[in-house]
Amino acid sequence: MSRGRREHLPTRPTWRCQVCGIAWPCSSAKLRLLAEYRERRTALLVYLATFQAEAAEQLAELDHSTPPADLADRFTGWARAR
Ligand SMILES: [Zn+2]
Repeated sequence: MSRGRREHLPTRPTWRCQVCGIAWPCSSAKLRLLAEYRERRTALLVYLATFQAEAAEQLAELDHSTPPADLADRFTGWARAR
């Protein structure tokens, strides 16, 4: 386990940030991902789309088969190249 610094990672199956407690990805998570994938925007979008699919499934189960409508904006919309 990592010591000290806590990562802004999603908690499953609620998809809230482990540090902030808000809907993941939080601002810190976005900044970290943008820095990490600066030269690989396509790879970032693939990575986020994978999370989005997983979240849609898990959140739907939590909420009796109703996937939240705004997942695309939340997971991939912010990372698209303008
Ligand atoms: Zn966070």
